[in-house]
Amino acid sequence: TDLARSYQVGRAGFLRKPRSFFAVDGVTLTLNKGETLGIVGESGCGKSTLARLLLGLIPADRGVLTLQGQQTLGVSETEWRALRRRMQLVYQDAAGALDPRMSVRTQVEEPLHIHGLPLDGAERALQAVGLFGAMADRYPHELSGGQLQRVVIARALALEPEILVLDEPVSALDVSIQAQIVNLLMDLQRDFGLSYVFVSHDLSVVRHISNRVAVMYLGRIVEDAPRDQLFADPKHPYTRVLIDAAPKPDPSTRRAIRLEVGDPPNPADPPAGCGFHPRCPLAVDHCRKEAPELRRVAERRVACHLVSEPFG
Ligand code: SF4
Ligand code: MG
Repeated sequence: TDLARSYQVGRAGFLRKPRSFFAVDGVTLTLNKGETLGIVGESGCGKSTLARLLLGLIPADRGVLTLQGQQTLGVSETEWRALRRRMQLVYQDAAGALDPRMSVRTQVEEPLHIHGLPLDGAERALQAVGLFGAMADRYPHELSGGQLQRVVIARALALEPEILVLDEPVSALDVSIQAQIVNLLMDLQRDFGLSYVFVSHDLSVVRHISNRVAVMYLGRIVEDAPRDQLFADPKHPYTRVLIDAAPKPDPSTRRAIRLEVGDPPNPADPPAGCGFHPRCPLAVDHCRKEAPELRRVAERRVACHLVSEPFG
């Protein structure tokens, strides 16, 4: 990884939930400039929590979060505002993110208002997402799901951020519209040099858009690898199970991931040792006692006792 061109977006981020378990624990991520880091996992694995931690929308209660060397844990609200200009969140529920009483243009101008910036950035952002002319004077109820998601993306782009954190940005859309939005995101990335953290349970979408993919399980990264390596040759047993369980591309269905190995454990009462051991087809005695560390192996990181040597 060329660090001069990369963002260290999360470094040992911790969030302690009321029942004293960590929804997200010890996560380190590197996001290369102009690239997409996909984050996948079953629902409840902590993906959305991680996205919100990165944006400071929920506070981490210990550990360090850094963005290009700048600490984001414990910084003042003013400092966070400056950081948020560089890093914007786009999430699944586009309609819910918009104010039904405000026109498209007003919504896209709002972040510029808040930051005291010239409002012409709104027009540029609207054009970039393909919303032209009279479209800007419409209200949310007059727009389709795909158009609403374009407005939300334009709103995020108005501040000319470097990073977009996208949490299930297409999951609520019809499959044909999903492809349009994913292609739009890829065009925007190329045109503006944006970096994406793309959170999704949908492996086929993540595979399409990502350069690297990190797999989350029980609030931790268990494998992190270049996209093609991960899908061609998953090393962590959980990654393997996840890829095997993913529905084959079929536009007529949109199923949740159901694994062959049973339901995930209750995150409030995680198993001892490796969190995956109750479901892992390869578990050995040692796995029940000691949690594997996330270790660098060639171009990947893997947290499994059985994967520690460089692959040969
Ligand atoms: Fe399976 Fe053990 Fe590896 Fe965990 S450490 S994934 S239980 S083999
Ligand atoms: Mg989620």
